[in-house]
Amino acid sequence: MAHITPFPGAPAPAPLLSVDRVSLEYRTPDRVVRATHRVSFDVHEADRFVLLGASGCGKSTLLKAVAGFIEPTEGEIRLEDRVVCGPGPDRIVVFQEFDQLPPWKTVLDNVTFPLLASRRLGRREARERALDVLAKVGLSKFVDAYPHTLSGGMKQRVAIARALAMQPRVLLMDEPFAALDALTRRRMQEELLALWEEVRFTLLFVTHSIEEALGVGSRIG
Ligand code: ADP
Ligand code: MG
Repeated sequence: MAHITPFPGAPAPAPLLSVDRVSLEYRTPDRVVRATHRVSFDVHEADRFVLLGASGCGKSTLLKAVAGFIEPTEGEIRLEDRVVCGPGPDRIVVFQEFDQLPPWKTVLDNVTFPLLASRRLGRREARERALDVLAKVGLSKFVDAYPHTLSGGMKQRVAIARALAMQPRVLLMDEPFAALDALTRRRMQEELLALWEEVRFTLLFVTHSIEEALGVGSRIG
């Protein structure tokens, strides 16, 4: 039996995502609100990295910066060694709100639409991939349903399926289960872990709940 022992002091694998001394501000004509001050952390491939912090500490702002919606006033964010300078299909966000799904599209169309809009797949391949991820989140029976007929937990599963179908390098989740009742929230956390076991995506998850951070995270920052 051969043993492979890493050399002592061998460099750690390069992180997938680096947040490097990032400060973020909101500027209004009469004042500047500092949302984060020189925050640094690294996320590696297949991490479930949880950003845990009290309300108002800048978690959502930081996630928006990673998504490329806002630009740091200081420091930089790198994904695979490229500086993030705008939104892209390599980073998809799942938000807290239930109404992130266009209500006039069926569940299936909600999931296929971004795949078609980004011109990554043809109609048939997009449909196949959407059906596949919808099966993974347990919604095969609801592909023709409209969002308003679904429970909050089911809508969040559609949002997760839609995000995963895009096969982002990092899945960003901003308190995605905060608006659900306690039992549904717990079930969704377990389902997210089961989904991760199957797909092994890289997750950056924001929450203010210590309990949720312990349940979801493999690393907590
Ligand atoms: P968290 O998600 O941790 O609750 P946020 O990132 O939403 O925190 O907010 C961080 C700080 O930035 C808070 O003080 C908040 O009031 C402020 N803030 C958030 N959004 C805006 C905005 N659009 N304009 C001005 N200030 C904002
Ligand atoms: Mg927030």
